[in-house]
Amino acid sequence: MSNVLQFKKPRPKDKHRGKTLCKSGFHKWQVVKENPFDVKSGKMISRYHCLRCGKVKIQGLGTRD
Ligand SMILES: [Zn+2]
Repeated sequence: MSNVLQFKKPRPKDKHRGKTLCKSGFHKWQVVKENPFDVKSGKMISRYHCLRCGKVKIQGLGTRD
């Protein structure tokens, strides 16, 4: 009987699958073109945000760290 209950559960939507990818570290990065210049460090940087979960990452240009 418990198997029947499982079949009745709605399937995960694409949105949920995306979040699972994000949790696994596979974010859907998109470049944010606003404020490409970081005032604090005085360097050009690239800003990215994930289209799915909204996480932001910043990469400095010319430096590998
Ligand atoms: Zn993400």
